[in-house]
Amino acid sequence: MVNIDELEKYFLHNKGHFTENFQGNVNPTEVVANLVCEENDFVAGIENVYDKIKGSCTMVILTPDRIIAARDKLGRTTAIIGKKDGAFAVASETCAFPNTGYDIEYYLGPGEIVEITPKGYRTLKPAGEKMQICAFLWVYYGYPPSYYEGINVDEVRYRCGAALAKRDTVKPDFVCGIPDSGVGHAIGYGNFNGIPYKRAYSKYTPTWPRSFMPQHQDMRDLVAKMKLIPNKAMIEGKCMVFLDDSIVRGTQLKDNTADLRQAGAKEVHMRIACPPLTFPCNYLNFSQSRSTMELATRKAIKQLEGEETHLEEYADPSSEKYRAMVEQIAKNLGIDSLMYQDLGDLIEAIRLPKEKLCTHCWDGSGYF
Ligand code: SF4
Repeated sequence: MVNIDELEKYFLHNKGHFTENFQGNVNPTEVVANLVCEENDFVAGIENVYDKIKGSCTMVILTPDRIIAARDKLGRTTAIIGKKDGAFAVASETCAFPNTGYDIEYYLGPGEIVEITPKGYRTLKPAGEKMQICAFLWVYYGYPPSYYEGINVDEVRYRCGAALAKRDTVKPDFVCGIPDSGVGHAIGYGNFNGIPYKRAYSKYTPTWPRSFMPQHQDMRDLVAKMKLIPNKAMIEGKCMVFLDDSIVRGTQLKDNTADLRQAGAKEVHMRIACPPLTFPCNYLNFSQSRSTMELATRKAIKQLEGEETHLEEYADPSSEKYRAMVEQIAKNLGIDSLMYQDLGDLIEAIRLPKEKLCTHCWDGSGYF
């Protein structure tokens, strides 16, 4: 919710109150609950949320006798119903189902509101026509066995890796993925090019599972550094291609490259499963850590131009400016070469029409 401050003022002005806080600010869940309660029934209340917030909100409401599940207005995130022997569950990631004995039953459409009772489920408000599902779900956020819109996360990553391999000319000794999401992309790359996959990095899993979880950047950086352990036996004297889901600030990648050089790497080539991130996300809080200024692309543009300008040209892979920006990022990170995914190839790998996907991070497109 990018307009949470505005909504806080609105409620306080109308003599509303908040009982909880979230890192010193009002709790977004409480703001949503207040918006739901402004109306007389759940459907009208959820529609009120859709109308008043800027950003996106998928929610589940528990009542004594039913569950109400609502997917955000443009379906940027997901809500999926699972079924087991007449019981129902709802999850945002379908990887929650196999080990709890559920099968995927129904994908809610964008803005759809569904009521679930012990007898079954029924739509209270049908799905809207427009969809802008986050393409990053497949590239990075999603867990490999999950499906969104019936499309499996790891299969998309294999296709992303294969698309990069198709365009590549480097002949490395092996390919490796930066855990976790880089692994699927790297397997796809290696399978396509017939290059062996090796684990130059292993993830020390007893620490944090995903580095974007801690809210403070310093802690995220520390976690990211501690959890990846390079294996010198694989690295020394070797030319390698690494696959990663994306480059946000590039800090982690820069550290990784320094580790690899220290372990005796001969050549380090990075291949990125999505295009350069040029625009920050305004819609999902799991990526709110990205501030525009910190993006590796914006830093490179500033180095080249002295200011952030010509963003559209820099986002165009056929332009000279794009080539110079990628070279500058590679230089900043200390790697031998860098290649990003083509947006068209990414869309093809996901296999949904472009107009149904949010690709705002890369091309600035999309709407609230
Ligand atoms: S801007 Fe990027 S991260 Fe945000 S919803 Fe769109 S594709 Fe996903």
